[in-house]
Amino acid sequence: MASKAHEHLLDWLRDAHGMEQQAEQMLKAQAGRLENYPELKARIEQHIEETQHQADLVEGCISKLGGSPSGVKDTGGKMMAMMQGMGGMFTTDEVLKGGIASYAFEHFEMASYRSLIGAAEYAGEPEIKQTCEAILKQEEAMAKWLEDNLPETTMKYLQRDETEGATAKR
Ligand code: MG
Ligand code: FE
Repeated sequence: MASKAHEHLLDWLRDAHGMEQQAEQMLKAQAGRLENYPELKARIEQHIEETQHQADLVEGCISKLGGSPSGVKDTGGKMMAMMQGMGGMFTTDEVLKGGIASYAFEHFEMASYRSLIGAAEYAGEPEIKQTCEAILKQEEAMAKWLEDNLPETTMKYLQRDETEGATAKR
């Protein structure tokens, strides 16, 4: 049970848990500021619920391996730096910067779960593997939605930007 692979798996699940907590904060900040993009806001709010459930699922995997998520490492700080690096909130086009950053973030999550799927398989933990596969599907769906909607959101932004008295930025 306490094989090297299990230790890594536990460690990486803790990273994923920290990632989901960061995702929740980021999505809440975004949704809370959006005013003129109801479809985007609604999709983000849906993903906040999914993200909270994902954090619980990952916590369940951690418990299954005999760990606890309280020992979460500082992935939050790293993630924050990454988001800032992607250019972020409080810009005049924050709806677009946020959408682009979220699209990148979903792919970061997808990569993390793909790696975890391999780790769980190697460690002989099929339930954990299945959980990670289910979470991966939600991340892919969110990324796909953003992919499909970013051009339209950008056109809407440009249209609002040209309209007297309309707020475009959020
Ligand atoms: Mg997630
Ligand atoms: Fe996500």
